[in-house]
Amino acid sequence: MTELAINQSNRRWPVARIICIGRNYREHAREMGHDPERSTPFFFFKPASALLSEGEPFCCPWFSQEVHHELELVIAIDQTLSAASKQQARDAVCGFAVGLDMTCRDRQREAKAQGRPWELAKGFDGSAPCSALQLGRYQDLESTDQLHLRVNDKLVQQGSWRDMIWPVPELLAEISRYVQLTPGDLIFTGTPAGVGPVQPGDVMHATLDDVCQLEVSVVAQAAP
Ligand code: MN
Repeated sequence: MTELAINQSNRRWPVARIICIGRNYREHAREMGHDPERSTPFFFFKPASALLSEGEPFCCPWFSQEVHHELELVIAIDQTLSAASKQQARDAVCGFAVGLDMTCRDRQREAKAQGRPWELAKGFDGSAPCSALQLGRYQDLESTDQLHLRVNDKLVQQGSWRDMIWPVPELLAEISRYVQLTPGDLIFTGTPAGVGPVQPGDVMHATLDDVCQLEVSVVAQAAP
């Protein structure tokens, strides 16, 4: 079973699925060349094998020359949501974390051009580094604000999760119209602007205020 550490606890949180949201911040939609106007949020899954816990190095896939970081607020839920209301969705939030939706941008461009799925670009082993989970309800999340990502101590991504096109309760409610969300699901809620490449030797340091933090060193992966 895939599990996530919990802040200030010896217990671990069992992860059901990893669900990632695309284009949920206007500036990032623009930097990727897309229309930033609000439309139905799209999502994709990462397998359990994508989860990379605090302390584990991130292996740059051998099959990509352009591996990008995407800094994201991660939401954990502990209730089943099916065609949920915003209030039900809000009540299902049981914790949050800071995560990285690591992306092989060259492979993603290729997949888009060829009409192929994104698994190779987004679902490879270790492609979802995630901090320990801060247990708390939505109101606890509301006392946080800023996401930061530093690569080798240089600030590369910064944003407030309040700038999401689809705020968390609406986002969860909307997705639950299409797939039933289950206790243990982790939702990566999209990235603010400033995505960019990493390479072996880099150290990524992501934070949500001083509540969640994640440090990941980047190492090379030999071609098989
Ligand atoms: Mn993303």
